[in-house]
Amino acid sequence: MAPTDAIGDTRTITIIGAGLAGSLLAIYLARRGFAVEVFERDPDPRTLAEGNEGRSINLALANRGIAALRGVGLQHRVGAIALPMAGRMVHLPGQEPTLLPYGQTSAEVIYSVHRAELNRTLLDAAERTRRVRCHFRQRLETLDLTAGKAQLVDESSGRQYEMPLGPTIGADGVGSRVRQAIESATGGSSRSDLLDHGYREFQIPPEDDGQHAMNPEALHIWPRGELMLIALPNTDGSFTATLFMAREGETSFASLEAPSAMTGFLEETFPDVASRLEAPNASRPTVGVLGSLYCEPWHHEGNALLVGDAAHAIVPFHGQGMNCAFEDVAELDRCIADSTQWSQAFRQFQVRRQDNARAIAEMALENYHEMRSAVADAAYRLRRALEQALERRFPSRFVPRYSLVMFRHLDYARAQQRGRINLRILRALTEGISSLDEVDWARAETLVNKLLEPLPEA
Ligand SMILES: Cc1cc2nc3c(=O)[nH]c(=O)nc-3n(C[C@H](O)[C@H](O)[C@H](O)COP(=O)(O)OP(=O)(O)OC[C@H]3O[C@@H](n4cnc5c(N)ncnc54)[C@H](O)[C@@H]3O)c2cc1C
Repeated sequence: MAPTDAIGDTRTITIIGAGLAGSLLAIYLARRGFAVEVFERDPDPRTLAEGNEGRSINLALANRGIAALRGVGLQHRVGAIALPMAGRMVHLPGQEPTLLPYGQTSAEVIYSVHRAELNRTLLDAAERTRRVRCHFRQRLETLDLTAGKAQLVDESSGRQYEMPLGPTIGADGVGSRVRQAIESATGGSSRSDLLDHGYREFQIPPEDDGQHAMNPEALHIWPRGELMLIALPNTDGSFTATLFMAREGETSFASLEAPSAMTGFLEETFPDVASRLEAPNASRPTVGVLGSLYCEPWHHEGNALLVGDAAHAIVPFHGQGMNCAFEDVAELDRCIADSTQWSQAFRQFQVRRQDNARAIAEMALENYHEMRSAVADAAYRLRRALEQALERRFPSRFVPRYSLVMFRHLDYARAQQRGRINLRILRALTEGISSLDEVDWARAETLVNKLLEPLPEA
């Protein structure tokens, strides 16, 4: 039988996936009084040995993600395992590294957080509510949405079993089985735009005295045009570095597959750091695939809904996938509060989030270019300096797009729109000049006042 649509008549909600979105969502739903059953394909990350924890070891957490954590009182717990990063430390060949601050105040920082530690913190908090039960190594195989039944596999024994489900939320990431079920029940569709570029991670161990080998208060970048290396600090004194580069072609992961070829390439391309780069656990897939996922619809009536990467995976170059997934969770909670029926809450959620997800997907793709090549470019640096000067002069109207995304709570779609206007202003004001001293400030004031509405308070 299909699950009830009345929110008030529902006692139990099922979540598929106990990753970052699934475990935070379980806490939100438990606080609304629901019993929450979470099914996760992988083992409990709290029982895993270190170094066996899957992809992207650390992540950048920003304001939107922190706001969603604050919604369930977890900001301090997560704060204790996070390191602030004040800007990008840009490493260009033959030059001293320079720090390009992300914002203008000491509060405008982002945080490096260890994925598995964050996941463990969220799972502990979920279980502390006493309303959440997590079932690990239980993989969703298929979902019959009209009958409200799921087929699962117990990964430890291989046993297949069927169970009835109430409203079900797919937080099962980019390869979502829940999405497949929604697609087949609704005649919907999905598309993955894979990037030609992939990624590979390395560790930079602490120095002998346990300290970080580089400034830990920055996200380090080595932009090299068609490729880049970045490194984010960890609380144990190490950094996790990620090399982003073409998967195939002349200079690519494929052409550098032999370890000696990769070592030679790293030494030549990143001489200041190459000797410190260590390949982590060999069991990890060597080259990760990146892409943007678009799908429609995100729900089937009041039976199932997608959140996080399952609905809208994006490339990682704005450091927003998890932040967006956390914002989804807080928004879904508001949709549930505003609705009497699941179908109404799920529809509202899609309406409120879809344009925003598309906007951050586009901005994340644009940021790849910025990170791997534009930060090394003089015209970009002038525009960036002007952005900051304009923000200081006209703080209620001109805020750089990066800051709107990372430090404010303005919808992604509005941040994107304002970013386009910002760019017009910046291009107009920097045309034919090479330093801030040459900026026509009277014209700047006219343009800013004419083109940009005042922003809501930060
Ligand atoms: C290299 C890289 C760097 C990144 N850096 C950042 C960053 O700096 N900042 C940021 O905000 N985001 C970043 N992201 C994006 C971020 O990792 C994702 O957006 C985030 O993990 C999404 O969370 P999620 O819970 O939706 O999905 P996931 O984290 O993918 O979790 C899905 C969960 O579902 C489980 N699952 C899957 N299928 C099944 C099934 N059939 N049955 C049961 N369980 C299942 C999985 O095991 C997993 O635990 C990065 C991503 C990558 C690849």
